[in-house]
Amino acid sequence: MATPTEILHTNFGFDHFRDGQEQVIKQVLEGHNTLAVMPTGGGKSLCYQIPALINPGVTIVVSPLLSLMKDQVDSLRQNGIAAAALNSATPREEVNPILRSAYNGEIKLLYVTPERLAMDYFQYQLGFLNINLVAIDEAHCISQWGHDFRPAYRQLNDAIQRLKTHPAILALTATATPQVQQDIGDQLGIPEDNFVITSFARPNISFAVAHPHQGTRQYILKYLTAHQGEAGIIYANTRKRVESLTAFLNEHGIQAAMYHAGMTAEDRAQVQDDFQFDRVPVIVATNAFGMGIDKSNVRFVLHATSAKNLESYYQEAGRAGRDGLPSEAVMLYHANDIQQYRWFIDQSTADDEYREVQYEKLQAVTAYANTPRCLQQQIVSYFGQECEPCGHCSNCTDDRQLEDITAMAQAVIAVVKELHGRFGKSLVAKVVTGSHDQRINQLHADQLEHYGALKLSQQAAGALVDYLLATGYLELDGGQYPVVKVAKPGWRVLDGEATVQRRSEPQPTRSSTTVD
Ligand code: ADP
Ligand code: ZN
Repeated sequence: MATPTEILHTNFGFDHFRDGQEQVIKQVLEGHNTLAVMPTGGGKSLCYQIPALINPGVTIVVSPLLSLMKDQVDSLRQNGIAAAALNSATPREEVNPILRSAYNGEIKLLYVTPERLAMDYFQYQLGFLNINLVAIDEAHCISQWGHDFRPAYRQLNDAIQRLKTHPAILALTATATPQVQQDIGDQLGIPEDNFVITSFARPNISFAVAHPHQGTRQYILKYLTAHQGEAGIIYANTRKRVESLTAFLNEHGIQAAMYHAGMTAEDRAQVQDDFQFDRVPVIVATNAFGMGIDKSNVRFVLHATSAKNLESYYQEAGRAGRDGLPSEAVMLYHANDIQQYRWFIDQSTADDEYREVQYEKLQAVTAYANTPRCLQQQIVSYFGQECEPCGHCSNCTDDRQLEDITAMAQAVIAVVKELHGRFGKSLVAKVVTGSHDQRINQLHADQLEHYGALKLSQQAAGALVDYLLATGYLELDGGQYPVVKVAKPGWRVLDGEATVQRRSEPQPTRSSTTVD
């Protein structure tokens, strides 16, 4: 029987295993339930495709997206491996022949949606197959603590336990915080010893956060002009923004195409193809773009609108530099994007606990955008790992003076204290700047000792509060209307035992606006 290494050579044409692959394959072949956490592009698919070719029976691959399934099945077939997908798009008359081929051993990999796996009739049909392995792609979808919870994933373990052959389970994800890893393990019966987690660090990517005071479009235009001929992706969060930004860039002589879910399937396929084969260097897209794209020489990923959470951000930014060559990932940060996301969470009908998680994720984005720390370190620590300062992110290379802002910080923290940690960010900013807002009058907040202590615009004070939150001197508490509280390091600042520093920023020439 062929060994994993032989299959790697002969069926896939690769010389070496990547980090983690061999270990995962070994565990799975020994029948151990396994969790594999590897970055996007890390080569998760091989971790179940190779065992599938070695095992005597069938491997079921659970995948949430029809388009991804199709790509995978197509590319396996190109490698001469018989695979098929069963989902709502499969014509009825094809279902039985596919199952029969699986029964005969002609098909080794069967891709299904989580919904289908849970269906009684499908379970009955699977009863005839020798299923050795169930691979669960995008396994973070099983967790409420993740950024992409899908209720259908909740039924997976039940469905797998009903399979008579007691297959091994392989859960795979690119984005799982320690809490999510734990949850996946608990729900699928994967002991922690069987977690295979490779490094999250992407040393060839230079991360950057930009606060584009001249406007987002101008920033992007300048950036693209300086990076002509390079392949890159620009993410924006709405179709409208994608359309207008593409038009703007085209008007300014930049060759860029757009991509969003509102376009026809043919148009999208065309754009994807043009990008893949270097006919169009720049794609402006919503987050619909990227899944299933396997382009190694993407030199930059810009986020014209801030991401909703660091999981999505890192996944999207991680599409840069898969070839290992120097690449850039720039997040253009706008506080108003974050406010808008917050509003969406406020309006959602999800339960409190779930919303709480979303608020925390949003706060982590704010922290990322404001921290003076190495950005690679900041992200990696979000995923529970450590790394050395990268030396080339926008913080590591920032040579602006570190300014001592202890006195300003003390004023803000004092206001938070005087408000007894019972009010939100905007009220703190209003009090400390001495606003005459109606709410200030209602609360008699102008009577507070530190009312009007800072001669700053409300926006600047808001940014200062964000900075103190981001750097952990203050903390947010509560779900829908989070209140600002003093965190432990904040008390030390108030007591004069610690100082606060911030990089001096050039004065904004005009207020930063999102692309429209
Ligand atoms: P993921 O699912 O982790 O994002 P994929 O499984 O799609 O990543 O793999 C990303 C790319 O890396 C694919 O083009 C795949 O063929 C390639 N790849 C995977 N493993 C190896 C390897 N050991 N050597 C070289 N290329 C590999
Ligand atoms: Zn760095």
